[in-house]
Amino acid sequence: MKKFSLLFTALFTAGLLHAQDSLTIRKIYDEALLNGKAYENLHYLCKDIGPRLSGSANAQKAVEWSKKLMEGYGFDKVYLQEVMVPHWVRGAKETAFIIDGNTRIPVPIAALGMSVATPVQGITANVVEVRSLKELETLGETVIKGKIVFFNRPFDPRFIEAGEAYGNAGDQRFAGPAAAAKYGAVGVIVRSLTESIDDYPHTGATLADKDTKSIPAAAISTKAANKLSNMLRLRKLPLVKFYFKQSCQTLPDVLSYNVIGEITGTENPNKFISVGGHLDSWDLAEGAHDDGTGVMQAAEVLRLLKATGYKPKNSVRAVFFMNEENGHRGGTKYAELAAQNKEKHIAAIETDEGGFTPRGFSFDGVSADFLKNINNKYKALLEPYEVDRLVQGGSGTDIEPMKAKLPGVVLIGYRPDSQRYFDVHHSPNDVFENVNKRELQLGAAGMAALIYLIDQHGL
Ligand SMILES: [Zn+2]
Repeated sequence: MKKFSLLFTALFTAGLLHAQDSLTIRKIYDEALLNGKAYENLHYLCKDIGPRLSGSANAQKAVEWSKKLMEGYGFDKVYLQEVMVPHWVRGAKETAFIIDGNTRIPVPIAALGMSVATPVQGITANVVEVRSLKELETLGETVIKGKIVFFNRPFDPRFIEAGEAYGNAGDQRFAGPAAAAKYGAVGVIVRSLTESIDDYPHTGATLADKDTKSIPAAAISTKAANKLSNMLRLRKLPLVKFYFKQSCQTLPDVLSYNVIGEITGTENPNKFISVGGHLDSWDLAEGAHDDGTGVMQAAEVLRLLKATGYKPKNSVRAVFFMNEENGHRGGTKYAELAAQNKEKHIAAIETDEGGFTPRGFSFDGVSADFLKNINNKYKALLEPYEVDRLVQGGSGTDIEPMKAKLPGVVLIGYRPDSQRYFDVHHSPNDVFENVNKRELQLGAAGMAALIYLIDQHGL
């Protein structure tokens, strides 16, 4: 009988806890859907500030405005964290032509971030199309030397998660230009990393090789890539040539900042749960989905917790990282300082996959048992809000450095629907108009709910 009553008390308490959790989460969602601020804040960030590449005047404006925004919400601490960032500038708008005999067909390109310029008169050369770095290696210097290498492997449409298709094609942009330079190429053109067939080049950073002299590299729109590929096939070399001109350059590093807001924990002020995205964005548009939505959601998470009267036991931080796009310096600095200050980080969430319909969260490097446990504890509470896919997977570039510096931290990626992100990613279409208010607010509420649960019941 005693055993029975103990069991009964335990079940009863668990039921009450569950009911309390349900109520709190409902409150968070009500606040997000009735009084949400992320969408109007994003409007300001996109339309009144605009593109915010690291080192730019706009990035500095975004830092100052973000700090004011979070101060206005009355968080316990709001501060800047110094970080030196690269300062790459695009210069004049690029020009490019496919040259077919006497015909010049203009095509849309955009210099890849961190690329070098062409000579002022531009570069004209024959084109070698390849589908992979492996193919480049097979062709070797005899074929590549003096040519423009054209990386043209499209997204593989069989991936269900669009991010995986991006990851699968991405080496062409990250590593292709440096690899081609080794074989004596004079320039590189990379098919835009998107499945969308359109006229917009999608930029993004490329990585230099410290032992090889860098060559100019640009992204070409998918439509133009298809056209160039067809012409190469029909006409064969040397009839078809390519011309491009760009004047980008890397200036000296600039002092910039991560922007941090905090609600200090009532029981464990030196234990942290963070949520963040990156404040910097590419220069071709407004950095709406990448990653204006992420930073505005992060601030909104703290605002939601505060507005619903929740007082977290552990400190909760919103981190606006600087320089995710072309250097990862903000994320690296944050992890370094957290380790130096002996902060104990319980969990870090990154939201950098667009402000689309929430699906769930992925947990970086956790065991099957951990995942099972987390699903047992939290899935039923998140399921009514359709943010209950709790899976193994990646987290985010900005929080990645925490793995080495802060042992024990659980890194979590916020996972919205992925299908449309790469339509706009790093392109002139990444504008406020492509963000949906409800999707954005639901995402912020989902992250606030998870942070509440972690704060209450751990991982
Ligand atoms: Zn991003």
